Amino acid sequence: MSGTASLAAPGTGGPAAASGSESAPPKFREAEIVWVHRWNPGLMSFRIHRDPAYRFRAGQFARIGLVTETGEALWRAYSIVSAPHEDALEFFLVVLPTGAFSSRVGRFNLGDTIRVEHEPQGFLTLDRFAHSGQGPRDLWLIATGTGLAPYLSILRDAEVWRQFERIVLVLSVRDRNDIAYEEELQAWAGAPAAAGRARFSMVLTLTRDQRHGALQGRIPALVESGALEAQAGATLDAARSRFMLCGNPDMVESMRALLKARGFRMNRRLEPGHIIVENYW
Ligand SMILES: Cc1cc2nc3c(=O)[nH]c(=O)nc-3n(C[C@H](O)[C@H](O)[C@H](O)COP(=O)(O)OP(=O)(O)OC[C@H]3O[C@@H](n4cnc5c(N)ncnc54)[C@H](O)[C@@H]3O)c2cc1C
Repeated sequence: MSGTASLAAPGTGGPAAASGSESAPPKFREAEIVWVHRWNPGLMSFRIHRDPAYRFRAGQFARIGLVTETGEALWRAYSIVSAPHEDALEFFLVVLPTGAFSSRVGRFNLGDTIRVEHEPQGFLTLDRFAHSGQGPRDLWLIATGTGLAPYLSILRDAEVWRQFERIVLVLSVRDRNDIAYEEELQAWAGAPAAAGRARFSMVLTLTRDQRHGALQGRIPALVESGALEAQAGATLDAARSRFMLCGNPDMVESMRALLKARGFRMNRRLEPGHIIVENYW
């Protein structure tokens, strides 16, 4: 495939089309794909260069677009994997065979182009816990599948390692082939303890497979049974713990209800709490 040039129909998809006016500046730029990695047929990562003017906070997402063979402009939200200081913008996505957007991106290669809106969005960011004072010392980053993406950005940034004493990443995937970025995650888990730097541990759970060292089952069930805390070696404690939930809305909703029953509250703008969430659909 040769990028949006081959996908765009004549007269569609130019900058003016996106801005809604011929003279208004475009809301997006075209960016060339400079790196592609396919984890398996259903999961890929890619990078484009980050425009120096594009500034975001770790945990935010970008709106990405393409133009189909029939000239239709499609846009979807994707969490940014790279840290704010990196030169690239990296994305990690599921390639759904019938997905209008992702099935097309799944065929992209180096040199193809994709659209990126100028403004990042989203509130799955550490500053949401800034009002928590000295209290929260443990951060639980809880994800299903590609919900891992914003946590990679947060973990690649220095701030989280200073702000918390303990970071527990909980990742649920279907089977062992769906575990991406494992080398990077293991490197954080294996890093020697250092003063002023959070300890990191990772709990993997597989829903349709088994692997040595991984749990089996869905995250809410593992919380209810106590298996998650046992594996993490940490307890869910309203005075210490803060949570980010990201990915499958069923997991997000179940965890929200479970945590609420244990005395944790959603973090709201005027009412600091324990939980912030990002639903992917
Ligand atoms: C704020 C935000 C951030 C997002 N970040 C990411 C990201 O970093 N990586 C990513 O892969 N997706 C992410 N998504 C989802 C993404 O925007 C698209 O919905 C997804 O790629 C499917 O688009 P599609 O057109 O291919 O499928 P569609 O034809 O739109 O089909 C949508 C269906 O696909 C399923 N689905 C959607 N997203 C996923 C997913 N991530 N994993 C498994 N099943 C899914 C759901 O059943 C959904 O109803 C994010 C969504 C939001 C709202």
